[in-house]
Amino acid sequence: MILYSTNHQSDDVSLEEAVFRGLPPDNGLYMPHVIPTLPASFFEKIDTLSISEIAFEVSKALLGDDIPEEDIKTIVERAIDFDAPLVALEKDTYVLELFHGPSMAFKDFGARFMASLMSYFLQKSQKDIHILVATSGDTGGAVAQGFYKTPGIKVTILYPTGKVSDIQEKQLTTLGENVTALEVDGTFDDCQALVKAAFLDKELSSKINLASANSINISRLIPQSFYYFNAYAQLKKAGNTKPVVFCVPSGNFGNLSAGLIAQKMGLPVKMFVAATNVNNIVPKYLSSGNYEPKPSQETISNAMDVGNPSNFIRMRLLAGDAHEEVVKHIAGDFSDDTATRAAMKDVYERTQYVMCPHTAVAYLGLKSYTDTLSEEVAGVLLSTAHYAKFLDVVEETLGTSVAIPERLSALLSKEKVAIPMTKEFSNFKEYLLSL
Ligand SMILES: *Cc1c(COP(=O)(O)O)cnc(C)c1O
Repeated sequence: MILYSTNHQSDDVSLEEAVFRGLPPDNGLYMPHVIPTLPASFFEKIDTLSISEIAFEVSKALLGDDIPEEDIKTIVERAIDFDAPLVALEKDTYVLELFHGPSMAFKDFGARFMASLMSYFLQKSQKDIHILVATSGDTGGAVAQGFYKTPGIKVTILYPTGKVSDIQEKQLTTLGENVTALEVDGTFDDCQALVKAAFLDKELSSKINLASANSINISRLIPQSFYYFNAYAQLKKAGNTKPVVFCVPSGNFGNLSAGLIAQKMGLPVKMFVAATNVNNIVPKYLSSGNYEPKPSQETISNAMDVGNPSNFIRMRLLAGDAHEEVVKHIAGDFSDDTATRAAMKDVYERTQYVMCPHTAVAYLGLKSYTDTLSEEVAGVLLSTAHYAKFLDVVEETLGTSVAIPERLSALLSKEKVAIPMTKEFSNFKEYLLSL
């Protein structure tokens, strides 16, 4: 895989370089020059394949020039060791549950694959790296779990004190081994500033092999395409012949971009729906043709509170670049917190199915799109997190207490281990040099 920068001011790079650099020096995003199409024979037998078999076929097509087949198999099997079941919710409406990985959010797919791929490249080159991540919640948990006990990789996670939920904090602070949590006396922006300053510091970069696990890393995007194929496979297995619509609850638009990659590789998709909360930059762009970033607003679907989506350019390029092409692939919809809560309650009362706020935004987006159609379609809404990760909002909205999965309740009784850190760079630097 050869990748270019979307700003066209940096050189093309190999997959390995793109994975360790994360961002091109010209601040664009890495994009593959070529996205191959999978053969018809793959789609004919897709309903007989497991998610990890599908992941292997897709990865082989994308990474086959960089990594031997046997190694791709090992990388995939290590990363994708959990399922993504498709649950029938109501007529022609399915929930694609992406929260069965270790941190119970879809970011596990990206984080585990990135860890598995990095570890493969590091073993080959006999190098060690130290990954720094700032998190406002979900990313840190997925990255911590993804890299946990990965040979050759140390992970330091910075999170703002008092600003992540109890469960999220426990996910960051109870692993130990190669994962260290720093509890920063500041905001998420302060945490991000510390990480940025570390990457720019000459002394640090000469002494430590620092790397980023940023969400714009290409190795996080690739594995997110697997579950679109897997959803299609499950529909086919169930005898569905209707056109398929995917509704994706979105913030930085990595997830939706991965769906477009699957479509480019030949997956039959009638339409994607980009569903957001009131941070509706992309739905506005889809209806007007104008892309106007603005400061983010807080909502109950807080993993999607993004005012300038980092993957926007990738999404646009993958969907054909020109606005009139993009709208042939992507419809938009947005919902405020009142509508989101009403959908959570309505679906729960009719079906007993509990949705997290992000999933409810997708439910509303799917309905608003399919209501405009005259034909019947199979509507798939992506459920990006388990509801128990947003327990307070869910219980308050539904007016009842809900069950917490064993994996999360076990966490709550574990002891938090975090190193307190000020937002001064000198303290952070001293800490990194002392390791
Ligand atoms: C990160 C996240 C999203 C947004 O995904 P993007 O790829 O950034 O669009 C949606 N829901 C949940 C629960 C998330 O953690």
